[in-house]
Amino acid sequence: MRKLVCDHCGRDYGLFAIGLFCPDCGAPNLRLHFSREAELVDDQVSLAKGIETEKEELAYRLLGNAHEDVLTAFEATLKAVYFYGKAQANVSPPKVGNDFQNIDKALRRFAELNLNPFAELTDPEMAALLLNIQKRHIIGHNLGVVDDKFATHANDAKVGETVGLVGADIQQFAAIGQKVVDGLDAWLCGSPSPTVNHSPLLMTIKEPTVDPDDPKNLRALDLQLSLLARKVAVWVAEHCTDGSRGFVDASKLRKEFKDNSEVELEEAVAELATDGFVEISHFSGGGLTNFRPLLDLYLTFDGPAFGRDPVADTVTVTELALARPDSVRGEELLAQTGWDLRRFNPIFEHIAAQIPDRGVRRYLGTKLSVSSLHLLAEDRVQLKRFVARLKS
Ligand SMILES: [Zn+2]
Repeated sequence: MRKLVCDHCGRDYGLFAIGLFCPDCGAPNLRLHFSREAELVDDQVSLAKGIETEKEELAYRLLGNAHEDVLTAFEATLKAVYFYGKAQANVSPPKVGNDFQNIDKALRRFAELNLNPFAELTDPEMAALLLNIQKRHIIGHNLGVVDDKFATHANDAKVGETVGLVGADIQQFAAIGQKVVDGLDAWLCGSPSPTVNHSPLLMTIKEPTVDPDDPKNLRALDLQLSLLARKVAVWVAEHCTDGSRGFVDASKLRKEFKDNSEVELEEAVAELATDGFVEISHFSGGGLTNFRPLLDLYLTFDGPAFGRDPVADTVTVTELALARPDSVRGEELLAQTGWDLRRFNPIFEHIAAQIPDRGVRRYLGTKLSVSSLHLLAEDRVQLKRFVARLKS
C-alpha cells in the first residue's frame, strides 16, 4: 500500500495498485502516485549506498531491484492510462502483453489515442530511457551479463561483462519516467498540474558519448553484421554513383580499409552476402573483386550514408506513382522528384518489387534500373497497402 496526499485538495489516502484520480476531489493523481514510487526507489538506493562497502553483492542486488521497480511502475502507469483512454473512447481494450515495456510498441498503442507520451523528452533523455529499459532486460533475464544487443545500445558496454548499475542511473531513470508521467497526468485533465517541476537530475543527462570507432553509430542498426561489415556496406552505398547495383571497385575498397587484412574484408563481404545485402559472383572468381550491392543494401545503408530516410522516400515516390493513371514512366517521376539518379533508382526498384513482374518494364541501355510500371487495379491496391504499412 502507498500513502498519498492529493496535491489539489489535501486529502490523504492509502492506495493499493494504481489510481488515476483523487477519490475525494477527482483531480488526476497519477503523477503523485509515480513520484511516491520514485521516493521509495530513492530510499532503496540510499539503503544500498549504506552497505556497499561491507556487502557489495547485496548492494548490487538492491540496486537491481530498485531499477526493476522503476520500470514496473512506469509500465503499469502507461498501461493504466492507455486502458483509461480506451475506456473513454468506449473501446474494449485489446490484449497488450508486455507492449508497455517497449518504447516502439508503447508509441503505437498510444497513437491509437492520438497521444505521444514521449513527445516532451529530449534526445538524450530518450536515449537514456531506452538504455535503461535494455539494462532492465539484461539484469532480469541475463543475470546482468552484457549481450550483443545491449552492447549496441551502450557504447561503453563490452559483451560478457557485468552491466554497470549505480544509484545515480536509477534516480535518473525515475526522473525521466516522472517527466513522461507528468505529461500523461496533464493529458488526463487537459492541463498540467500546478505542482509540476521537473527534477534537476534531468539536467545531468548528457548525449551518449560518440565511439570514435563507430562515429555513425552503425552498431545501433538492428542487424547481425559485424561493425566492419556495416562500415563496408556504408562505403559501398557512398561510392555507388547511380544506384543501379554495379560491381564494386575492389582496389578502392582495399585502399579505404587498408588497416584491415584481405581475409577480414572478404569475411565482411561474405557476411553482407549471407544477409542479402550484396551478391558475390562466384562465376568470375568470387571474393572482393566480384561483388555488387543488392536493393537491401541501399534501403538499409543509404540512411547512415547520406542522412536521408529511404522509407520516407519510398512513400513519396509511391504516392506520386499512384497519382498517375495506369502507366508510370520512371523518367517522368525522376524529373518530378528533382532527385539525382542515385537516390531515385533504388526507391523506384523497391516499389517495382511490390507488384508482379508482368507490370514491370526494364530496358537495357537506359540509366534507370526500372523503366516503367503498368499498374492494374489490383497492383494499385497492393501499392496503397504498401504505403499504409510504411507510414505505420
Ligand atoms: Zn483531491
